[in-house]
Amino acid sequence: MEAKVREFLAWQGGVRLEAVAERLRKRGFAATVCTDRAAALERVRAAAAEARTVAFGGSMTAGTLGVQEALKADGKEIIDHGVPGLSTDEKRALMRRELTADLFVASVNALTEEGVLVNKDGVGNRVAAMIFGPAKTLLLVGRNKLVRGGVPAALSRIEAVAGPTNCHRLSKKTPCAVTGSCAHCVGSCPESICRVTTVIEQCPSLSSIEVILINEDLGL
Ligand code: SF4
Repeated sequence: MEAKVREFLAWQGGVRLEAVAERLRKRGFAATVCTDRAAALERVRAAAAEARTVAFGGSMTAGTLGVQEALKADGKEIIDHGVPGLSTDEKRALMRRELTADLFVASVNALTEEGVLVNKDGVGNRVAAMIFGPAKTLLLVGRNKLVRGGVPAALSRIEAVAGPTNCHRLSKKTPCAVTGSCAHCVGSCPESICRVTTVIEQCPSLSSIEVILINEDLGL
């Protein structure tokens, strides 16, 4: 029975991802649908072929896929501000370098069925890189990030899932990191990660963004 459930969910995920890929292309993004994480990793390696430097935007999905290890093995220089033990100044310097990398790898907090990318950031480095900077950006998006109901549904997903779980993961001193529920702390909480909201409706005109849609539940 479990195998049947997986089969039906994979069918639904596949057709929904193919539909959103088509809408993303109309909005100027490149879009690739991958059946699973292994196929997605192969796509990343192929897309990174010309890149010398690769930067990361704190994506759990990239971590699950083993993107950093694979690209390192392919001889790429990795720029990652998430390395443990860095000072704030060292992190800031790496984030600046990430903005001029040949390739930037990140994820999104939510993707609408219409093909709109919605994110909230605390620092803003991830969304800044998505909008302008690196020569090329790859966004790894598990099927669980796809929402129906436009930007309001995307913001609801961030409030219900991405915000609280990421705050807990990052040990932030926010109400949601304790209760698991958003308390709308932005504006009053020094450690809020929801300071900047971006809605990318069309691929920014001087950027090259490929959305890699993966038919698995991945990331937060
Ligand atoms: S607004 Fe505050 S409480 Fe809500 S998800 Fe963001 S950090 Fe957590």
